[in-house]
Amino acid sequence: MSYTHILVAVDLTEECDPVMTRAQVLARNNQAKLSVVHVVEPMAMAFGGDVPMDLSMLQQQQFDQARERLDAFAVKYNELAADQRHLTYGQPRQEIHRLAEEQGCDLIIVGSHGRHGLALLLGSTANDVLHGAPCDVLAVRLKKPE
Ligand code: AMP
Repeated sequence: MSYTHILVAVDLTEECDPVMTRAQVLARNNQAKLSVVHVVEPMAMAFGGDVPMDLSMLQQQQFDQARERLDAFAVKYNELAADQRHLTYGQPRQEIHRLAEEQGCDLIIVGSHGRHGLALLLGSTANDVLHGAPCDVLAVRLKKPE
């Protein structure tokens, strides 16, 4: 069975490189379409959801910066046309699942830090995305910085 549409979730850090490289190889080998998604998380979530001030302007700036970074990312990986890049707002797990369903993706690729111990209890995006995913999920192991 080959994949037809692969969705890569990117956090737009330098750690994306191994994830994206693996995704490109898989897409080529499967002759699959490749799409990327970056999710901008609500600022209020970082403060536990209850913030007594208006964060909308800061949030807009964060969104604009993310768009610039995603555009630069697309230039770096020149296989990414405008309809292959998605910038969404919300909780990464929900947004990645929603987009995978909406776009008819049959494989989601995420990076994984291979956390263990307490860090594992705190959770990871890879773990989160795996649970309840609408299709296969590939977690690409990310090496710890030396
Ligand atoms: P984390 O567990 O948060 O360190 O992230 C591991 C992987 O989850 C990253 O390599 C990405 O594939 C994905 N990821 C994390 N944050 C985001 C985000 N905001 N948008 C899209 N994907 C993300």
